[in-house]
Amino acid sequence: MSEIAQYTPAELKAIREVFISGAMPECPRCHIHMTERPIGGGSFGLGYARKREWLICPSCRRSAIYDIKRGTRN
Ligand SMILES: [Zn+2]
Repeated sequence: MSEIAQYTPAELKAIREVFISGAMPECPRCHIHMTERPIGGGSFGLGYARKREWLICPSCRRSAIYDIKRGTRN
């Protein structure tokens, strides 16, 4: 089990755009909703206005990590 599947940069970009728009993205491979896992869990103590989100497809286990900046628009 050494295979680590990854999304392509184009897939990552598409997932991010859906997520930022406020919807839960679907895995572009499996077409099922991804699972959101906040990183840090409250005890990590990030001291700046930044939130890191970890999206995982529960089917193929590909994951995507994004830094979501709050209060700013990209
Ligand atoms: Zn998938």
